Amino acid sequence: MALIVQKYGGTSVGSVERIEHVADKLIDWRKRGHDLVVVVSAMSGETNRLFELAHSISEHPVPRELDVLLSTGEQVTIALLSMALHKRGYDARSYTGSQVHILTDNAHNKARIREIDSQRIHADLKAGRIVVVAGFQGVDDEGNITTLGRGGSDTTAVALAAALKAEECQIYTDVDGVYTTDPRVVPQARRLDRITFEEMLEMASLGSKVLQIRAVEFAGKYNVPLRVLSSFEEGDGTLITYEEEGMEEALISGIAFNRDEAKLTVLGVPDQPGVAHKILGPVANANIEVDMIVQNIAEDASTDFTFTVHRNDYRKALSILEDIAKELGAREVIGDDQIVKISLVGVGMRSHAGIASTMFETLAREGINIRMISTSEIKVSVVVDEKYLELGVRALHEAFELDQAG
Ligand code: ADP
Ligand code: ASP
Ligand code: MG
Repeated sequence: MALIVQKYGGTSVGSVERIEHVADKLIDWRKRGHDLVVVVSAMSGETNRLFELAHSISEHPVPRELDVLLSTGEQVTIALLSMALHKRGYDARSYTGSQVHILTDNAHNKARIREIDSQRIHADLKAGRIVVVAGFQGVDDEGNITTLGRGGSDTTAVALAAALKAEECQIYTDVDGVYTTDPRVVPQARRLDRITFEEMLEMASLGSKVLQIRAVEFAGKYNVPLRVLSSFEEGDGTLITYEEEGMEEALISGIAFNRDEAKLTVLGVPDQPGVAHKILGPVANANIEVDMIVQNIAEDASTDFTFTVHRNDYRKALSILEDIAKELGAREVIGDDQIVKISLVGVGMRSHAGIASTMFETLAREGINIRMISTSEIKVSVVVDEKYLELGVRALHEAFELDQAG
């Protein structure tokens, strides 16, 4: 029987009724002759609740203990789903990440999966059971519980699909596929039947949270057919594929945005070799990831150095920069954590000039000031004030006619 790995996100298992609904869906698949491995998230809001609990005790909870706490959310849903399957007369077994040996590195709160020992799962499938696995968690080689970063259940599902050589990995969520942009922001957004790994990877890395970026990376690397579908409506969803011949190559496949950004600028640093390193070295040493970087040269041989970081790292980065600025004799450090990044994504973009200029013209028409720009072969990103996010994304969606097919 063909094996399918399915993943149900937080909203899809957000109540007992919804968990029962998932059980009914699984039985339909089973009746159609499929072996099933099911990955579930914590009930919606639960991971946030646990996170806040931890932070009510300590501003910086110990990462190892945070993982022990966060991983409990998924342990609740695997048990409930298995119970719902048993009630319906189907044999099922639930497992935590460590029970099925989802081995990860030891980077707590953002661990990477190294290997999965699928023996136990194979044995259960052979015995006719539905296997229910907790998403978002694993175990390091010393037996510590780890978690995979927000949205990590997607990655659990894809990694299991790769390890078990499943026919398909299906990600069930609260939208019926991948859209040209977040349908919550642009109601006219259009569902895509297909999107390439390359484009999906870019969308995910630029902020589209419909799939965790590592899940897309994994699926691309191990050639796992990956599909995003709705838990609540019938439909084929969106298939993520390699580029195929004859596949319509859209100029722009979508618009991604990221609200989790903040920007920092060191004003008036001496324009000398080594300055970028002196500024970014300590930032990197503090484990802060830097995204966009821009350096301007002023007339007086000094330079302004600007970069963006995750909003959660803003305060920490600011205090590091203030120390560096003194050392370098820089004039001032300024920052803004009310900014967002909006990106146009498309593999078809490579061969077309003019996209960036249409983008800038559209934003100008709406009176939106662009604070930073960065481009690559398949994307153009701008940083704008947070208050313009919705307006900007909607205007761009319309200007590039993304609501209309190809
Ligand atoms: P789950 O809990 O099932 O993992 P997520 O909230 O992580 O669900 O992901 C689904 C959400 O992703 C949707 O509700 C939608 O608001 C958002 N989203 C962002 N960008 C897109 C996009 N391009 N296409 C579809 N959904 C998107
Ligand atoms: N429960 C985790 C989260 O909220 C993992 C997931 O849902 O994918 O991020
Ligand atoms: Mg998710």
